[in-house]
Amino acid sequence: MIPGPIECEANVLEAMGAPTPGHTAPDFITSFANCLSMMKQVWQCPSGQPFIIAGTGTLAMEMAAANLIERGDKALVISTGYFGARYARILECHGAEVTMLEADPGQTIDNEMVEKTLKSEKYKVMTFTHVDTSTAVRTDAQALGQLGSKYGALTILDGVCSVAGENIAQEDWGIDVVLTASQKAIGVPPGLALMVVSEKAMQTWEKRKTPATGYYTDWANWLPIMKAYESNQPAYFGTPATNLIKALEKGLENIINEGMQQRFKRHEILGKAFRAAMIALGLTIIPSSETLSANTLSAPYLPDGVQFADFMAAMGHTKVAIAGGLLQSIKTRYFRVGHMGSTGMDEIRLCVEGISFALNECGLKVDAEAAWEAAMEHLKEVESDS
Ligand code: PMP
Repeated sequence: MIPGPIECEANVLEAMGAPTPGHTAPDFITSFANCLSMMKQVWQCPSGQPFIIAGTGTLAMEMAAANLIERGDKALVISTGYFGARYARILECHGAEVTMLEADPGQTIDNEMVEKTLKSEKYKVMTFTHVDTSTAVRTDAQALGQLGSKYGALTILDGVCSVAGENIAQEDWGIDVVLTASQKAIGVPPGLALMVVSEKAMQTWEKRKTPATGYYTDWANWLPIMKAYESNQPAYFGTPATNLIKALEKGLENIINEGMQQRFKRHEILGKAFRAAMIALGLTIIPSSETLSANTLSAPYLPDGVQFADFMAAMGHTKVAIAGGLLQSIKTRYFRVGHMGSTGMDEIRLCVEGISFALNECGLKVDAEAAWEAAMEHLKEVESDS
């Protein structure tokens, strides 16, 4: 139950483990075309340009920056944790003049503050992290997308920990780039950088005055490949990760077959249930309100007196793998649990029991049953749906 890579469903792993297809094999071409088309559906962006590139989420972040930034362009980064700071660094690498609005752990930046900043200067690009995996804080992607459009900034949403787990209506919300990686709520092993780009952002890129700062990242190299596969033709620039693309086809099918809205609702219930259990155990969670709490992962503080190393050592005796802290300033004071993809009630139960066991091992007296009952108040909804 770490927040990625997550466990994959059996049909995804079967597709992944099939004999490696060639990138020109007819069956593979169909799978690639299916993936590109399903991405537009999952991203809720019918007029967008999807890209599937071998690499990680950081490559997707870099690709958006390398293609949309020209030296001296101003970029605004809304940072709610570790990954906001990463984006600022990437943008600087590509020549942007970066302004970063940095929230305290567990907080976000008020929309009024964002608006004031956008009003004060002309920003070409604004980036924001939908769910920062270091704090479990979720930003208001719809409001930020609309603010960016209002002030003429291209908006880039880092959705690595949200796409397919949190609702994102990219086209309706006017977000120009929504990017993710395969290993989180998409439910596929790590190795694919995924993004959908709006028509407006593609036009801005076409009008660049200077060449894009990168070779592997240049859309000029990749756009013809995506266009070819979209029309059922093979094309080559860099060898596609063929096994991963076969797995992605199954992952996207699973998402669409579950029903997007049902899937978001399931994640919401799992998130609420898990947080309720943690609160029943006496823990405080990092996001300062329910509205700011992600559905895809949770980040509870350890209780006073419990040492991080002792807690993680005790967790090692359970069947559940969780993650430690990531945000440097509070790194050893909290832990992180992912509840995305195919996670269900059984996993939440095992996890609540595991954490209760570990806290008891650390000398606390916590009641696992009471925590599970608190979770069940929410989980009943999943049970009655299934
Ligand atoms: N952004 C967010 C919000 C993430 O959670 C991560 C990965 N944890 C990344 C970006 C970077 O993705 P990757 O590790 O695949 O490069």
